[in-house]
Amino acid sequence: MKTTLRTDITVAQICDGFVYNELEGKGLFGLSGMLTIQPEYQRNYIYADGKKDVAVIESILKGYPLGLIYFNVVETQNAASQVERRFEVLDGQQRITSFGRYVTNKFAIKDENGMEQYFDGLPVDKQQKILETSLLIYECEGTESDIKEWFKTINIAGIPLNRQEINNAVYCGEFVTLAKAEFSNTGNSNVMKWNAYINGNVNRQEILERALEWISATKGETVESYMSRHRHDTNITELKTYFNTVIDWIDGVFIDVKKEMRGLEWGRLYETYHTKAYNPKTVNEQVQKLYSDPYVVCKKGIFEYVLGGCVDSKLLEVRIFDDATKKTVYNQQTEKAKANGISNCPLCAIGHENNRTKIWEFKQMDADHVSAWSKGGATSIENCQMLCSTHNRAKGNR
Ligand SMILES: [Zn+2]
Repeated sequence: MKTTLRTDITVAQICDGFVYNELEGKGLFGLSGMLTIQPEYQRNYIYADGKKDVAVIESILKGYPLGLIYFNVVETQNAASQVERRFEVLDGQQRITSFGRYVTNKFAIKDENGMEQYFDGLPVDKQQKILETSLLIYECEGTESDIKEWFKTINIAGIPLNRQEINNAVYCGEFVTLAKAEFSNTGNSNVMKWNAYINGNVNRQEILERALEWISATKGETVESYMSRHRHDTNITELKTYFNTVIDWIDGVFIDVKKEMRGLEWGRLYETYHTKAYNPKTVNEQVQKLYSDPYVVCKKGIFEYVLGGCVDSKLLEVRIFDDATKKTVYNQQTEKAKANGISNCPLCAIGHENNRTKIWEFKQMDADHVSAWSKGGATSIENCQMLCSTHNRAKGNR
């Protein structure tokens, strides 16, 4: 990869012809139309939070360096069949979009008196200072794979690229473009509904990541291999259909949306349980009952517990006995057992094995609910018995 350092390009030049698409949250063009700020493999603009974007402008005003910016050189033929050197931002898109948006009055910064100032309202000397700031730009020329490989390893923008952002860059093409338009678009009216079940940021490609994870898992492959196989597809029908099917299934089975539903492994749950029939009203009653059960520690486990027919109480992490209770019960049981010449594990005591008279040590025993939690048994000292580890395990998780 060949690189050339440029120090002559100013903020004013970059902002000449700056276009920002508010709907898609993208800085599009600059440098008099010669620069593509957000090529399709770039991530969305994520600095528009009133902090990172403001920090970029404050850095410029204080004369702090903005850091290196990388352009990819793309040679194209213009209408007169001449070769033209155009540029794509490889790294620096967030910073460029921040000053581009500021110069075009899209957000304000606070001045030394705490007053909000848009670019147009700044004193002329400050406007000049911003516009005349020159940038450190590396122009890179190389093959597509060189540049992608490099892009995959950079981490200088302040916020590291996450896995899906890297995948979008590496497997860029028609499929990614279509997938992003559906799943990475903050303007999509479904985002709120998706976010009820999926823990993720649309802009950081995390909804898209889940969608890809779900479909690729059904094929027993990784997200990367799925993206690679579909890279040149001109539709995302399979991805979209499967994703919507999972979401509709959740919507259909569960009436109330609980905050603990957010971020569950819905793809796996759908695959495991979607062939079972559920009565949403019954499901809802079971969920409500478990929510109000003080012994249920893990609320997130309620949904799979109910889907699985209320059997696997491990999922609920039912409250366990504390050490003081266990110790007290152990002492009572052991004292009685010794007096009667039988084992202090009540199940060993009625067994036919060598352990019939064995006195187990405290650490060899576990606490058990006499009356199972699932049948209404409380986690109280009256409902606690100590069993030897083997018998406790054999009794199973109830
Ligand atoms: Zn036993």
